[in-house]
Amino acid sequence: MAALNLARLIAVAAETIAAHAEELTALDQAIGDGDHGLNMKRGFEAVRAEADAFAAKPLPDALKAIGTKLVMTVGGASGPLFGTLFMALGKEIAADPDRNNLAAAFGKAVDAVAARGKSQIGQKTMLDVLQPVHDALAGGKTAAEIADIADAAAEATVPMKALRGRASFLGERSIGHMDAGARSTALLVRSVGQAIGESA
Ligand code: ADP
Ligand code: MG
Repeated sequence: MAALNLARLIAVAAETIAAHAEELTALDQAIGDGDHGLNMKRGFEAVRAEADAFAAKPLPDALKAIGTKLVMTVGGASGPLFGTLFMALGKEIAADPDRNNLAAAFGKAVDAVAARGKSQIGQKTMLDVLQPVHDALAGGKTAAEIADIADAAAEATVPMKALRGRASFLGERSIGHMDAGARSTALLVRSVGQAIGESA
């Protein structure tokens, strides 16, 4: 895999989240408490502020440190879950990962999120994007294809009834809205793919 420019990747991800913060807030307002956009923006700005320090570390250590930073700064339910994703990824990934290692490590990280959230696919959460993204990675799809799969997976949360997180308090009334965490996950997947594509 081409050498990863982690500082650039962080900048693109933080930029994407900032540009979509209002959209994420609106999604979370519909079936949650409306803090997801600000939560994510705060967390990714905090990561961006230390991007050079993260980028100076070996990739596994950098991902673990980013995960810790996200836990401390995002807040809400999603902070510990995104934090777990990055920390678990850091634990499993090689310093210079190939596709197989990346897919396997991402699979373990998705499992760690599911364990932490006591959640599974089909419950209208970020997992509904993470799992298909893992499958696409393992299946050898391109970054652009994976980004499209992530968008479609976020879209597919619209007709679901929420069974985890705040939206689950609404029961049937959660149907008809996209899950905010699914959308932010799809945005991150596209921005990571874009940044990796630039360095390929
Ligand atoms: P909060 O719900 O505490 O306000 P956020 O608004 O930042 O936190 O994040 C909400 C998102 O977190 C949801 O849209 C969903 O994708 C995700 N989420 C919440 N609970 C869980 C869970 N148990 N498992 C997986 N994802 C979850
Ligand atoms: Mg919220």
